[in-house]
Amino acid sequence: MKISPLKLINANVITLHPDMPKVESIIIKDGKIEGLNQNLLSAKTIDLKGSTIVPGFIDAHYHLSNLGKFLENFNLVGIDSPQKIVNLIRKNLSNFPKGTWILGRGWDQSLWENNKFPLAKVLDNISIDHPISLTRIDGHAIWVNKRARQISGFEESLDFTAGGEVINNCIFIDNAMDSIEKYIPKQTENDVKRFIEKGIKQTVSNGITGIHDAWQDSLIVTSIQSLIKQDNFPIRCYGMLNGNDKEFLKPWFQNGILKNNRYTIRAVKAFMDGALGSRGACLFDEYNDDCGNFGLILLSKDEFDKLANNCYNHGFQLCTHAIGDKGNKLVLDTYEKYLCGKNDKRWRVEHAQMVRDEEIPQFVKNDILPSMQPSHCTSDMRWMEQRIGNKRIHRISRWKSFLNAGLKIPGGSDCPIEKGNPILEFFSAVTRKSPDNPNVESWQAQEKVSRIEALKMLTTWAAYGGFDEHRRGKILPGYDADLTILSQDITTCSERDILNTEILMTFVDGELVYKK
Ligand SMILES: [Zn+2]
Repeated sequence: MKISPLKLINANVITLHPDMPKVESIIIKDGKIEGLNQNLLSAKTIDLKGSTIVPGFIDAHYHLSNLGKFLENFNLVGIDSPQKIVNLIRKNLSNFPKGTWILGRGWDQSLWENNKFPLAKVLDNISIDHPISLTRIDGHAIWVNKRARQISGFEESLDFTAGGEVINNCIFIDNAMDSIEKYIPKQTENDVKRFIEKGIKQTVSNGITGIHDAWQDSLIVTSIQSLIKQDNFPIRCYGMLNGNDKEFLKPWFQNGILKNNRYTIRAVKAFMDGALGSRGACLFDEYNDDCGNFGLILLSKDEFDKLANNCYNHGFQLCTHAIGDKGNKLVLDTYEKYLCGKNDKRWRVEHAQMVRDEEIPQFVKNDILPSMQPSHCTSDMRWMEQRIGNKRIHRISRWKSFLNAGLKIPGGSDCPIEKGNPILEFFSAVTRKSPDNPNVESWQAQEKVSRIEALKMLTTWAAYGGFDEHRRGKILPGYDADLTILSQDITTCSERDILNTEILMTFVDGELVYKK
């Protein structure tokens, strides 16, 4: 529904602009914010009866097509025993013709009784006719059955020292995952378009008006372009290209960035290390619960250097996944080689989950953005001390330290790894408590951020991370009319009440794309 001009009245509008932090009404015309607190008699009017309007939420780290795929496959999030996963698949086995792959996502061994990776026989017993591949909650490991191993020709003697590992003959970590995944039938453009459409539905219902899509291959790019042509892509998307595929990147580096109203591609995504949950994050000192294991490095120095060089020379932003303290350091050193101090390239470290004191000035010196997901902290804190011990625990999710150093943090969820709900991200950022268990002490409370800072992470600073701060992330005349309407003011309600906030409406380009 696009009505223009449109007037939203009786609202509690949080503009995030210091000169005029609160207003009561907004006039929208031709997809833009035309005026604040102004009278326009001829406009169609919506009375918001005191609801709160914030700049449209932007999720700065998202996986849109994976979200749609996740909604179609087995959802294993929160399941507290491997046997329950087996039962779930068994119960539905008759829906899958012999030979088809059974896929799922979201298992997490840290929720199980002994916290250990399962043995091969657990999945092997389900079916000899169906290959099964189940992705871990963090996307950095898959758990497969015997049929999947047979199809891939996997042999126990294989060595995956280059950034991968196989545990118990059934858990394939990081670079080892590809040896299985390349046998899973390729998705067609129709599959991907269907995933994206499903993903968007959930996205707008969470009040999100724009996403930074943190891994796009050619299929995703063409699917989004085709959906936009069909006028069937009601959000904004900032794409980060698959940094592993040199052939795919070549024409992009030759032809330069893409920028239009709905879709921008000016970033490349790379992976330096894995994740802490599967002990793939690269650490300076060994894991506390796995002697001699320092994690994985997924990209050689030389390859990363070449990629950084290409991005630098062709005007692309480089966004590199780094979680462990050493993983972060490796990224910073290569970034610094090109950025050489003050700059406006806005190269990002995705996650920046574990960072030593001495690396924070290196972010500042080179204007590097830590792109962070508050809920990763509050999901992972359950087992963090076991993984890395007490002495290093202050290095985790250092939001306040980064802000105090003068950095901007684009905030996101990494959906579908987390739920993709900005209210939960906001709650995690201001409380450092799990939304599932809010009646406890804040975890590493010194890194909590204020309510306004948390809101900026999910709006103003996310826009900055995509070079859009001049038109999105605040509510100002001339800015895009991307708005989220909330049932209450999350900057003033009680802490407990934050979790009861409802998304009432989502506007993109002045168009109502979701209504509760
Ligand atoms: Zn991600």
